[in-house]
Amino acid sequence: MDRRWLGFGVVVGLVVGILVLVVVGILVVVQNRRMRRRGYAIPGQTVVRCSRGHLFVTTWVEGGSLRAVRLGPTTRYQRCPTCGRFATIHPVKDADLTEEMRRQAAEASGPAAS
Ligand SMILES: [Zn+2]
Repeated sequence: MDRRWLGFGVVVGLVVGILVLVVVGILVVVQNRRMRRRGYAIPGQTVVRCSRGHLFVTTWVEGGSLRAVRLGPTTRYQRCPTCGRFATIHPVKDADLTEEMRRQAAEASGPAAS
């Protein structure tokens, strides 16, 4: 392959790479907006419930998570601070939260997450 074609390949690679990043970025924004419209406090500090029923607050941003395994748009596998076990967790809609539930979640999560 001569040098001209090699340069062309690098340019095409860069353009494709940038396009993929832009498309992924758009999908992340769309998914976060969809979750917000459905009544979840996503992206941001979200009240979640573990599979054993404990409430706590965690940072939930669609498209990225450092401390959890994503299993779907409203399901994660993450450590629950109340029972100390890894469990499936689901976000709770803002409208479904009572003051008592918010207080429980904030207490379980400690001052760092509030
Ligand atoms: Zn739990």
